[in-house]
Amino acid sequence: MGSSTHNEVSFKDSVNLSFDKAVATLDVAPGMSNYIRNVNNVYQVRFPVKIKGNIETFIGWRAVHSDHKLPAKGGIRFAPHVNQDEVEALAALMTYKCALVDVPFGGSKGGLLINPQQYERFEMEAITRRFAYELIQKDYIGSGTNVPAPDMGTGQREMAWIVGTYMAHKPGDINHLACVTGKPVTMGGIAGRVEATGRGVVFGLREFFRHPEDVKRARMEGNLEGKSVIIQGLGNVGYHTAKILQEEDGANIIAIIEFDGAIYNPKGINVEEVFLHKIASGKGVKDFPGDSQFFANGAEVLEKECDILIPAAMEGVIHKDNADRIKAKVVAEAANGPVTFSAESTLEGNGVVIIPDVYLNSGGVTVSYFEWIKNLSHIRFGRMQRRYEETQNKLIIKAIEASGHPVAKDIVDKIGHGASELDLVRSGLDDTMCNAFQQIRERYWAKENVTSYRTAAMSLSIEKILNSYNALGIYP
Ligand code: GLU
Repeated sequence: MGSSTHNEVSFKDSVNLSFDKAVATLDVAPGMSNYIRNVNNVYQVRFPVKIKGNIETFIGWRAVHSDHKLPAKGGIRFAPHVNQDEVEALAALMTYKCALVDVPFGGSKGGLLINPQQYERFEMEAITRRFAYELIQKDYIGSGTNVPAPDMGTGQREMAWIVGTYMAHKPGDINHLACVTGKPVTMGGIAGRVEATGRGVVFGLREFFRHPEDVKRARMEGNLEGKSVIIQGLGNVGYHTAKILQEEDGANIIAIIEFDGAIYNPKGINVEEVFLHKIASGKGVKDFPGDSQFFANGAEVLEKECDILIPAAMEGVIHKDNADRIKAKVVAEAANGPVTFSAESTLEGNGVVIIPDVYLNSGGVTVSYFEWIKNLSHIRFGRMQRRYEETQNKLIIKAIEASGHPVAKDIVDKIGHGASELDLVRSGLDDTMCNAFQQIRERYWAKENVTSYRTAAMSLSIEKILNSYNALGIYP
C-alpha cells in the first residue's frame, strides 16, 4: 500500500527486485532463477454470504509461490486493501523465509478483501467458514498440500473456524488438525505460537547484538539494554516484540505508532499499559494518559532519532519519500516488506543497517512448523520425557549434595524441572534464529558482492531452494 501510494513499483516487483539482486551474486541459470522467482499458481474466488438479510459477495485469493516442498505454508490476511499482487508478494516471501530457516515448506499466502470491523462476530464466522470451504474444495487447504496460519486481521479464532470447517468436510482425515496452524491450544495449537513472531524478532536482535563487528557496523555497541526503540504497529507481532524487549532485555521503548497516531516519550513508554488502553478504548494510542507526547500524524514519528526502528505492521511504510529522513541505526523488519526496494538503497547509503523480514519475522512460521509436527505426531512435545528428565535431574542434584556440596535453591528450582512444551518451543525458536543469523552474517562478511543482510539471506534461500530442486531431479 505504502509503495503504490508513493509511486513506486508494486510490492511484488519490490520483492522480485530483491530476489534479482541476490540471485546475481550466485551462479544460477537464468531459466531456473525465473522459475523460482515467479508464483506457481493463484486461486481467486468470489463467494456469497447472507449478511443482515442481503447477499454480499466477497473476494479472496490463495497464492502458491512454490511447492518444491510440501505443504505450502503461509498466513491468511483479512484486510480492506488486500489484492492479488500483495498476496503473491507475501507468498514469495514465505518461500524465502521457510528455505532460509530450514522449515521444510513451500511458500503460500491468502487474502480476503474485507474490513472485519464492519461485521459482527457471527457474520465473521460465516464468512470465514465459507472462504475456508471454497479453499478446501480446490485443495488449497490440507495437511499435506497447503497449510494456512494467522496473518494481519486473523488469529486463533479464525484458525479454529477453519479447522472446524475442514473436519466437517474431510471426516476421515486422521491428520485434520495439521490443516492449519496458529490454532487455540485447546484445538490442537501449540504453546508459544501467539508470541512466536515477536519472540523470534527478539531472539534475532539478541543474536545480532552478540556480534560486536555487526553492532559496530550499525554505529552502536553493547547489547539491547537501554537501546532506544520505536515500534510501528502494536498488533500481535509489535506487542510481543515490544513487551519482551522492554521486560526481558531492558530496552527503552520511546515511541509506539498506531493507525490513529503515535505516542512519543524519550523517557520510555510502558508497553503493557498502552496495550491495555488499546483494548479498553477499542482504538489505537490516541488519548493514552500520561506525559507522552501525541502525534496525530504517526508517520512523522518513524523519523525520530532512535537506535532501533521496528516496523511491525504492514508493507511499504518506509518508502522513497521518507527513507532519507529515517534516523534509526537499525531497521528491524518485524512486518513483511516494510521497506521498499528503492528505500532500501537510500537507507543503506545513509549507513542504516536493515535486518530483513525473511529472516527476522520467520519465528511465526518456525513455531507453525512445530505445531504441524505436533499435530502429525498426535502428541504434545515433552509428554514422554518431562517427568523422566525431572527425576534424572533430581538424582544428579542429590548426588552432588551427597558429596558434600550444597546446591543453591534457585539452581535446584531451575534444573529440577523437565522441559514443558513452551520451554521446548522457545528453545527450538531460539536455536533457529541464532543459526540463521550466523549463516547470514557469515555470507555478508565473506562475499564482497553481498552488500546487505537481505541479499545474504535471500541468496542463502535461493541456494537452498536450488538444492531441493536438484534433489527432485530438476537441475539448475
Ligand atoms: N503469517 C505469518 C508470516 O507471515 C506466519 C505464517 C505461518 O505461520 O505459516 O510469516
